[in-house]
Amino acid sequence: MTLKLNRRAFLQWLGVAGAGLGLPACVHGRGGGDRRVIVAGAGLAGLTAAYELVKLGYDVTVLEAQAQVGGRVRTHRRGFTSGQYAELGAVRIPDVHQHTLGYVKEFGLPLVEFTQGEPLYYLKGQRFTHRDGQPWPLELTPREQERGLGMAAEYIAAHFEEFGDPRRGTFPTPAALARYDALTFARYLHEQGASEDWLRLYMAENGTEPPVTGTLAWMAYEAADREWQRTFHIRGGNDQLPRALARRLGERVRLEHAVVRIEQDSRNVRVWYQHGGRTESLQAAHLVCAIPPSLLREVELRPAFSEEKMRLLRELVMAPSSRMWMQTRTRFWSAEGLGGLKLVKTDTPVERLWDLSSVLDGPQGMMMAYMDDQNARAFAAVPATERPEYVLRHVERFFPTIRSEVLAFQGMAWSEDPWVRGAWPNFQPGQGWMLPVLPRPEGRVHFAGEHTSLWTGWMQGAIESGKRVVREITGA
Ligand SMILES: Cc1cc2nc3c(=O)[nH]c(=O)nc-3n(C[C@H](O)[C@H](O)[C@H](O)COP(=O)(O)OP(=O)(O)OC[C@H]3O[C@@H](n4cnc5c(N)ncnc54)[C@H](O)[C@@H]3O)c2cc1C
Repeated sequence: MTLKLNRRAFLQWLGVAGAGLGLPACVHGRGGGDRRVIVAGAGLAGLTAAYELVKLGYDVTVLEAQAQVGGRVRTHRRGFTSGQYAELGAVRIPDVHQHTLGYVKEFGLPLVEFTQGEPLYYLKGQRFTHRDGQPWPLELTPREQERGLGMAAEYIAAHFEEFGDPRRGTFPTPAALARYDALTFARYLHEQGASEDWLRLYMAENGTEPPVTGTLAWMAYEAADREWQRTFHIRGGNDQLPRALARRLGERVRLEHAVVRIEQDSRNVRVWYQHGGRTESLQAAHLVCAIPPSLLREVELRPAFSEEKMRLLRELVMAPSSRMWMQTRTRFWSAEGLGGLKLVKTDTPVERLWDLSSVLDGPQGMMMAYMDDQNARAFAAVPATERPEYVLRHVERFFPTIRSEVLAFQGMAWSEDPWVRGAWPNFQPGQGWMLPVLPRPEGRVHFAGEHTSLWTGWMQGAIESGKRVVREITGA
């Protein structure tokens, strides 16, 4: 079955189409005076929906499977000295993420900015830094030699108009949809004239997903954040954001309550959950389903959702992403004049090394190997106890003193996390049809989560989706 993706459907996906467009007429106002809402999942999406509904006087209960809130916003503080920590999930807040920054301001959380610096490259076995005007030791076209990563302006940004603007509801244009839905982003870049080595450079900067990710999805997030310049972090750890929301919800958040069944009819929705070895249920007028699709596919549905939604739950792939954090005795790379968040860009199995030290206190350094797709899978295939050695073996190719520097490690393979099973959706070529289906309500069930938003893979997407479901439920 081929499902056609059209403009109107995309407008719904973006939530810019005006109140009620495309929603079943019965959604708004159903349930009469019943203001009970159940929220499944206490990640940022579910917490946002709950918080905004409570502000409007709704009676909300949040069911969260884990013993903690925050989902993919997880700050690991144990095992490091000087109060340093590892962000296992969300690290960066771009200056254009107004939903995230809006909550940071509302809850009075302190921000700190990542500093810029000179990166190190380790590509094709060569260790080098690069200054404007110098030749790259890579097989690039003459224009790529001249502009380096700046070629993104020609290969990507110059085509934004052809694709449409996701923030204005004009994405994708019918022509872009017809032409690009079947292409991986790597293939798209090659069609624009990008050489193999330019793609290598681009992936060392942005991750290794372009050979598997569809062009529409990648262009949507390139275009959405096109004005991004500065990057922030919540001083002391990003988990303060979900915790601030949860604090305001108090006992409405029920931890270790795993949703296992959703039943609905024309008047109510009943949600069954497991808690303390028992299976119990709650009834409400609406359910906000803010659990990842990889988990929702295992929840029993009575009746089943529409054919498109069920197909989506079967076929949507969650991307693997793995990380290894290394606290170091010193910030030894600064002696070489190196620095900045994207500290080392490589084509080795450890992919990218980010330097988080600039937002942390203490004299020690904090580096993170950040691996996507095949590299993330290869890391996850290594037994947990051998992962530090696996990473060190690769890192010492460009930082030979690393072994004498490392004080502590913390690894994370998101494909192994039982409550997400991946990092974010990886929309594959031909899966553009999923984008408008993801947020579409099914009767009394409304869908939130980063995966239902234009900003997939961002806290901004989770928060934006939480606010969208509130508009659906209230009919605002
Ligand atoms: C490696 C990585 C790096 C990232 N980097 C950034 C970044 O730099 N900046 C940024 O802004 N964002 C980043 N993100 C993305 C950001 O963390 C997510 O987009 C966002 O946190 C997702 O929120 P969510 O509420 O949609 O989902 P989640 O956070 O996954 O929350 C879903 C919740 O549902 C719960 N749940 C699952 N199943 C059930 C069930 N059956 N019953 C009840 N509860 C259930 C889960 O336990 C979880 O708490 C990153 C994510 C990862 C993984």
